[in-house]
Amino acid sequence: MIDIRGLTKEELGEALAIYGQKPYRAGQVFTWLHKRYVSSFDDMTDISKDLRNRLKEDYYIYRLREADVQTSHKDGTKKFLFELQDGNLIESVFMKYRSWNTVCISSQVGCDMGCRFCASTVGGCVRGMTAGEMLDEVYTIEEKTKERVSGVVVMGSGEPLLVYDELIRFIKIITDESGKNISARNITVSTCGLVPQIKRLAEERLQINLAISLHAPDDEKRKKIMPVAKKYPLDELIDACRYYFEKTGRRVTFEYSLISGINDGKEDAAKLSRLIKGLNCHVNLIPVNPVRENGFKPPDRRFAQAFKNALENFGINVTIRRELGGDIDGACGQLRRKHV
Ligand code: SAH
Repeated sequence: MIDIRGLTKEELGEALAIYGQKPYRAGQVFTWLHKRYVSSFDDMTDISKDLRNRLKEDYYIYRLREADVQTSHKDGTKKFLFELQDGNLIESVFMKYRSWNTVCISSQVGCDMGCRFCASTVGGCVRGMTAGEMLDEVYTIEEKTKERVSGVVVMGSGEPLLVYDELIRFIKIITDESGKNISARNITVSTCGLVPQIKRLAEERLQINLAISLHAPDDEKRKKIMPVAKKYPLDELIDACRYYFEKTGRRVTFEYSLISGINDGKEDAAKLSRLIKGLNCHVNLIPVNPVRENGFKPPDRRFAQAFKNALENFGINVTIRRELGGDIDGACGQLRRKHV
């Protein structure tokens, strides 16, 4: 049995053609699945009973189970703990901004990348998630909150470029106008810096945003906090970002978690500026969020501001990210796969 929600509209058309169905049926079924979020084939009232029964024989409709939800008292952010069909747990976060809502989704159960500041990697990676599972993080949150979601960030647990094919499928489906129809420009994929996959993604020429978790201005420092740096040095990573911009015309975002005494000094700011100079990019500074296992601390506000000013003086676009959901461990790097 196949999760029917993991099929793109095109694939659905091919699948229905096997049953001798006309192409427009694919659009109808797709809309039931991806706009109306039905949980059962019997809810597809304009589809013949015969076709519904055939679909039931070959496919199932995948739904997540909400295991827990926590709401931030500070900013209304909601962190959902979802149980997947095989019993694994993942977290997703609903965030309210002034005029739109965004969901932060996980792409793997856990993570293997080993970044020292991040909670998601503490228990390793169990498995990658499917497109259907990623889609249902967004759909279920829309249903539970009764709010419209217009942006998605793939910044929860996991390294999205390690589930490359499922990620692309997820993007194709969620941007489809017969379904949820989220604009590609409102989707951000974040990676710790897998160079070959970044190049491959560039060639897809999607209009999504690419965010790179940089966190250090040179290889030596980066290797100490991000094992991936041993595989892909910064010059190759920056070249891949340049290539991404050339192919897509989309400005790249660099995420830089400021960790007191580790990467927040004046010389770090200067090095970072030199590293990314001339690249069409934006830097997001994130004072590191507390994670029990590592003891890293954020710099105080003045230091973070000084770091920002230093980058600005070099002509770099930079913001300090407003963190949401810190009081429920729902901020960057705090997602896990269990109740805590
Ligand atoms: N694996 C992908 C997707 C995760 S995105 C990636 O690395 O980009 C999660 C973002 O939060 C990444 O930029 C990550 O580096 C950052 N992050 C992880 N732990 C953090 C922490 N404790 N404080 C602030 N940001 C953190």
